[in-house]
Amino acid sequence: MERKNCWKQYSDKRLNKMEEYTKEYMHFLNHSKTERECADTVVNLVEKEGFTDLAALVRDKKKLKAGDKVYATWMNKAVILCRIGEKPMEEGMNIVASHIDSPRLDIKPNPLYENTGVAYLDTHYYGGIKKYQWVTLPLAIHGVVVKKDGITEEICIGEDKDDPVVFISDLLPHLSQEQQEKKASELFGGEALDIVFGNRPMVKKGDEKEEKEAVKAQILRLLEEMYDMKEEDFLSAELEVVPAGKAREAGLDRSMIMAYGQDDKVCAYAAIHALLHAKKLARTSVVMLTDKEEIGSVGATGMGSLFFENTIAEIAARTGLESPLALRRILAASRMLSSDVSAGFDPAYASVFETKNAAYLGKGLVFNKYTGARGKSGSNDARAEYVAYVRRVMDDAEVSFQTAELGKVDAGGG
Ligand code: MN
Repeated sequence: MERKNCWKQYSDKRLNKMEEYTKEYMHFLNHSKTERECADTVVNLVEKEGFTDLAALVRDKKKLKAGDKVYATWMNKAVILCRIGEKPMEEGMNIVASHIDSPRLDIKPNPLYENTGVAYLDTHYYGGIKKYQWVTLPLAIHGVVVKKDGITEEICIGEDKDDPVVFISDLLPHLSQEQQEKKASELFGGEALDIVFGNRPMVKKGDEKEEKEAVKAQILRLLEEMYDMKEEDFLSAELEVVPAGKAREAGLDRSMIMAYGQDDKVCAYAAIHALLHAKKLARTSVVMLTDKEEIGSVGATGMGSLFFENTIAEIAARTGLESPLALRRILAASRMLSSDVSAGFDPAYASVFETKNAAYLGKGLVFNKYTGARGKSGSNDARAEYVAYVRRVMDDAEVSFQTAELGKVDAGGG
């Protein structure tokens, strides 16, 4: 069973539309490197498209009716978009959920130190990273410092063309004999991923006493000048270290996009785009953009929280459905795509794929009926009736799709 290659079957009109879409997607990526930035970008985007803030509707006791568009945010890190359908919500919603956090290095609460004339920021990695990929790269720092008085300072270092970048050093090849003997997983420990943050000592004038850690002192002076922050303010900061630079087209034929954070902004953007551009909707349609997927969907902003249920309850109440039973019925009658990336077949690493059940570049979006590891453990296995329904929807709308498992059985999984 072969799936068709989109490049061969798309009309010129569809190819042009795709180019337009990918340009917008790349712009979205460039402004969404962290979950906070992504949440902001989404809110700015949908407000222009006539979505109103659910919190304001609740405050003003306003009603929602068919055709209305509404959004809700949670702790600046998660967003729900909703278009009210023609049918009552109790007949169920169509939901797409994606995550807007991505693997990265988080700056620790007490990060700044100096060692032998070099200032470092200590990090704790977030999500499943291959540590050796993060050394010798230009890195940027994105995030917020929230001071004790509640004032938030937004920080972004390394993205403007005139900005400095930061980096993690690696050993020069000439002195790497012992290092090169190590296994890749042992090359860089989690504690070895410290950011090089400076090495210029503060110079004292005249009789002034030299600082003991003059490089760190100079960094602290700059932080104060630039962001009005003191060392203690790191305690209540969320600073995320990510690869610096913009999304780029890749390949001489420009057939691919190379960028940080496409897991899972590729799904998030597709869902947002679909919701914004869908014509009249029979069923209430929801896009859930969540945080903390990379570390197990935990915490107040992950899918383990009650943000989704609470928000749907509020939206339902605005349409006149206030009872707890109504909420149960809405949820039970709903359909959902848990939308995330799968593994794309890579000819250079063919051995971890089972080629009949792999996803290929250029063959359309991919559905995984289930994922999991070691006998589907930890997966949701979509029932055949639902997969049949999804196939029918895709084929009727002439959307190219393929199906896959996440690699060979027992090669890993997830
Ligand atoms: Mn993902």
